[in-house]
Amino acid sequence: MSTIPFVIAVHGGAGTISPDKPNEAPYHEGLQAALRAGAAVLEAGGSALDAVQAAVQSLEDCPLFNAGRGAVYTADATHEMDASVMDGSTLRAGAVAGVNGIRNPVTLARTVMDHTSHVLLIGEGAIRVAREHGVEMADAEYFHSEERLAQLERVRAQGAGVTALDHSAQAMTDNGAPIREDGKFGTVGAVALDQHGNLAAAVSTGGLTNKRPGRVGDSPIVGAGIYANNATCAVACTGTGEHFLRACVGHDIHARMAYRGESLEEAGEAVVHGLLKEIGGSGGLVSVDAKGNVHMPFNTVGMYRGVFRQGGQPQSYIFRI
Ligand code: ASP
Repeated sequence: MSTIPFVIAVHGGAGTISPDKPNEAPYHEGLQAALRAGAAVLEAGGSALDAVQAAVQSLEDCPLFNAGRGAVYTADATHEMDASVMDGSTLRAGAVAGVNGIRNPVTLARTVMDHTSHVLLIGEGAIRVAREHGVEMADAEYFHSEERLAQLERVRAQGAGVTALDHSAQAMTDNGAPIREDGKFGTVGAVALDQHGNLAAAVSTGGLTNKRPGRVGDSPIVGAGIYANNATCAVACTGTGEHFLRACVGHDIHARMAYRGESLEEAGEAVVHGLLKEIGGSGGLVSVDAKGNVHMPFNTVGMYRGVFRQGGQPQSYIFRI
């Protein structure tokens, strides 16, 4: 049986990343490790779904990115993490929101998809599924970070109701207006096409620094921060979550391709530089279509991202190329 060349793409957040930042190497290492983790699954003939999960788990384990171990703090100095997976071959999806103490939230999202009849579980109910299915937990010490706490203090000092996106934090007022322009968003995501022609996507995040407890962004919302459909594409987003929710970014890209016949690139450019920007949203996404085209648009200065094609080497980028 003939197989299709696989491809996987990942992101580690977007934003106004300073080009003179002294040490970019660890970010490249983190992105390339994730690409290798996903590619190992695909190389062995595994599914796009398993590959994106493996890639996102790798990024969750890296403290540089705002997901899993590196998750940012809420206004209560706690962690509330969101994650999702979607299988483009079946349109099945699993997601969790507001979970704490889960080492790899993306694994729990996959568990919700595989072992419950639901798509999205929140808080304690999601954690109960983790306990029932032996999903690995981690104590507060694992998620503790002096740097992240300092980040929380800096954002708190900017006033009540101000939140910020990782990595260097674009602070926003309660109505979502940015009050600083040096923001970077640290959510992680992955999309893949496997050798059998199936597409999948996965996303994981700690959300916003100083967010209100209970706030949920786009990352675990099917059609907003994530979408996958073998007929068109797989999409994983990062950026100002409230805007990505309002623009239904993931599904809009799919719909433009399905109903208007747009290419992956045309659809992604129209959404990221069109509607999303018009309503004040900033960020980007990684996407792949059923032919293996990859598109990684962003309307910020940079986006941590990378791609690995069968037979090639992992490539990672931060700024425009
Ligand atoms: N989109 C994420 C959220 O709003 C944040 C990010 O991309 O860093 O929760």
